[in-house]
Amino acid sequence: AMQGKRDKLSEISETPSEQLGIGKIRLETHLREALVNDGLDVRYQPLLHVASGRIAGYEALVRWTHPERGAISPMEFVALAEETSLIVPIGEYVFDTACKAVTRFIDSGADPKPFIAVNVSARQLGHPGLIERIVARVDAAGLPRGSLKIEITESQALNYGLVADVIELCHRHGIKVALDDFGTGYSHLSHMHRLAFDTIKVDQAFSRAMVDDPRSLAIVEAIVHMGKALGTEVVVEGIETEEMLAILRRLGCDYAQGYLIGKPQTLDELLGAA
Ligand code: C2E
Ligand code: MG
Ligand code: MG
Ligand code: MG
Repeated sequence: AMQGKRDKLSEISETPSEQLGIGKIRLETHLREALVNDGLDVRYQPLLHVASGRIAGYEALVRWTHPERGAISPMEFVALAEETSLIVPIGEYVFDTACKAVTRFIDSGADPKPFIAVNVSARQLGHPGLIERIVARVDAAGLPRGSLKIEITESQALNYGLVADVIELCHRHGIKVALDDFGTGYSHLSHMHRLAFDTIKVDQAFSRAMVDDPRSLAIVEAIVHMGKALGTEVVVEGIETEEMLAILRRLGCDYAQGYLIGKPQTLDELLGAA
């Protein structure tokens, strides 16, 4: 399929946009190499349980340092990997690495035992056996099922049937599912209405605005209330200041995530700090 795509591109490589496309394919080749040559990495960002003031878990965030271009944002290369299904083996790498991380956190005596949330894209969800493989990994690592959560990003293409099946399967296996980036892009309240997510993650666009803008604050407050009414935990992302955290405390929000709590760090950095 790769070769086919390359041929197609060389046929039409006259236009600048297609030349850009060739750069993309080269980048994809580099990404494929990074995957097999240990060139990817995972960082962990803490989530604060607001009421207790304790770190409850971490979000695993994939990192790629390109040999020439340096650090490339996952926003860029995850999208690329999704187009080509390379996201499937990358996702497996992230899951494997995250399972090892939970084991090390537990061995280090972390209390409470932290969960690790892993991002899963729509392309991965459609891949048969994904959840079964995740569960097998968790079990093989001897971890409690509840130590892994998956985060699904909202998108226009969110396939209700597929996501409902994934959630049901996860719940049957004791794995929790979060709806990521709530409130942005193609977000719909119907996602919450039709799907039994365990957690809503409010996008940082709202936390950023809530400090100065009463309307944004009202929206965050309404989401926190909705979460309570539905029995769904609420995380607010992008918490960078004490003022923002104080607002979450006042609203009774469950979890805070952001640079104030901690930036994404390597496992060694986090264990060293513990
Ligand atoms: P996300 O899942 O919404 O992750 C949160 C993003 O916000 C991360 O960006 C994190 O570094 C950033 N962030 C956290 N706190 C703050 C803050 O206080 N201020 C600001 N300005 N930013 C903050 P990152 O690591 O660049 O990841 C971007 C997106 O890439 C993620 O958004 C997620 O959708 C995707 N992604 C990352 N890792 C993976 C992965 O392993 N698999 C998949 N499928 N997608 C991934
Ligand atoms: Mg996420
Ligand atoms: Mg998010
Ligand atoms: Mg995001």
